[in-house]
Amino acid sequence: MLLSDKYPFLTEFFQTAIESENHPPAHSILFYGNDLQSQYTLALEIARLLNCTGDKTDNCQCLNCKWINEGKHPAVLTISRIDSKPDDDDSKTVISVKQSEMIRNMLITSSQFHRVFIFCDKDDEGNIQGLNKMNFQEATANSLLKSIEEPSERVTFIFLTRDKNDLISTIISRSQCFFVPTKKRQDYNFEVIESVLSNYWEIKRGEAFNVSEKLNALTKDTSPIEILEQFQNYMLLALKNNNSAKFLIDDIHSVELAKKQINQGMKSDIVFDELCLKIIR
Ligand SMILES: [Zn+2]
Repeated sequence: MLLSDKYPFLTEFFQTAIESENHPPAHSILFYGNDLQSQYTLALEIARLLNCTGDKTDNCQCLNCKWINEGKHPAVLTISRIDSKPDDDDSKTVISVKQSEMIRNMLITSSQFHRVFIFCDKDDEGNIQGLNKMNFQEATANSLLKSIEEPSERVTFIFLTRDKNDLISTIISRSQCFFVPTKKRQDYNFEVIESVLSNYWEIKRGEAFNVSEKLNALTKDTSPIEILEQFQNYMLLALKNNNSAKFLIDDIHSVELAKKQINQGMKSDIVFDELCLKIIR
């Protein structure tokens, strides 16, 4: 399955951001959610789009795309407790301060490539795992902060984790954060609403009526109840991945109320307006 089919919203978001001069993607990106492998694939896709010298399609054969697909691009590095270790580093359980210093030193010299550092953990079989406060400790994170805060133009840091709160707050506050939902369970379907409501908690309050209008436009092909149920699916998945986000519970209740209003015959545009004003804070 192509990544763009699996995550149409996120891939399109980054494609557009990378092509736009006005809204380039942040230099520090954080993905969270239970599907670490998909996060990693997304991170590689961003690295590919940033470095591609061809047509940027899924089967582009330019040297950069080839290198990234084969896992040997010289400027796209996986940083984990077992990858990208300097020679004098014998730490085995953590991403070390030495690794962070190595990155800082690399950034002193310029590169013809857009450098991408993907921070994650791996288990003994090599499966991608998430960062947490054990494998990515405060000292290492702190020594990275300067590189993240004053990045050279063509450098991107990407952090992968299960729960946002598994990372120290200084990294979170400097990163643009994206929830990457698990797509393995068919019964948690939310594809109809994804383009409108992905990461809705990041949407500015001034956009509430805009979002409501977009939701209402979806009713051309999908019933309002189905839209609201998909929205709840999305929230439930987000809640599973971020237990501390208590606002999600309130929001699930608000959507439940909206479903009731629809069933009582209220018009969908009014129901969506009211709902968006509640959940877009
Ligand atoms: Zn290419």
